[in-house]
Amino acid sequence: MLKIAYHPIYTHPLPEGHRFPMIKYELLPKQLLYEGTCIEENFFKPEIPDTGPILATHTEAYYNSLKKLSLDPKSARKIGFPLSKELINREVIITDGTIKASEYALTYGLAMNIAGGTHHAYSDRGEAFCLLNDQAIGARYLIQKRLAKKILIVDLDVHQGNGTAKIFENDTTVFTFSIHGANNYPFKKEKSDLDIALPNQTNDQQYLNTLKEILPKLIQKQKPDFIYYLSGVDILATDKLGKLGCTLAGCKERDRFVLQICKDLSIPIMCAMGGGYSPDIKTIIEAHANTFRVAQDIFF
Ligand SMILES: [Zn+2]
Repeated sequence: MLKIAYHPIYTHPLPEGHRFPMIKYELLPKQLLYEGTCIEENFFKPEIPDTGPILATHTEAYYNSLKKLSLDPKSARKIGFPLSKELINREVIITDGTIKASEYALTYGLAMNIAGGTHHAYSDRGEAFCLLNDQAIGARYLIQKRLAKKILIVDLDVHQGNGTAKIFENDTTVFTFSIHGANNYPFKKEKSDLDIALPNQTNDQQYLNTLKEILPKLIQKQKPDFIYYLSGVDILATDKLGKLGCTLAGCKERDRFVLQICKDLSIPIMCAMGGGYSPDIKTIIEAHANTFRVAQDIFF
């Protein structure tokens, strides 16, 4: 059974005109139910988790300043969301979605979160719409609970997972791998364990050749017993922020390749959505829905 974390708070309203497409978190589950890719039973509702797993990744000072809404204005501006109690709760609940989906992945092979992939969050600060790093929290949780020994994070969002790279910089139990746009945010990139920076307008063939060349060898070498996949759809040519040139079909093939290799090698995989900023919301939903369609096809 495909388990997907979803909570109505994922679509917490933002002020009119805010450029973050919050609406996708409402439309995506609706689309998946409407078309029959998912049934209600696929979804589970995450909650406010214990602070333990969050504080294994984030500093207490930073987490407290979020909870108390006492972040200094400059740090709050870097995050880019109008911070409120509800928005902080939203982010905390998303991390619970990723933790629980990680546990479901151990049972079912694959589990997903309708949101998450907040890879720009560092241990002591947030930026670019990311407050808490859900997959980093999930990875630390699995390692500390001894549910995994070696984790590979496959971050294929167009933006480099700078927060994730930094968090695990000196941690040999988690290998960070990022394929991203060379000229995309963050402009000062961190060093992942493996970074592939692609030039502007990279097309499907170039993108997929790179992925298919590198990922199998990387898995063979690192021998992860758990994989986190960040399936951002901002690699599309239509994306307002991304500078790559992939099509919907190429993006779907990317997902298929990553999920298939995990299925073939019986490596549990947890998948979080990440970014997607195409001007037409239908394109964003179609691209994210493809990840769930492929997941159902391959695993269930
Ligand atoms: Zn992104």
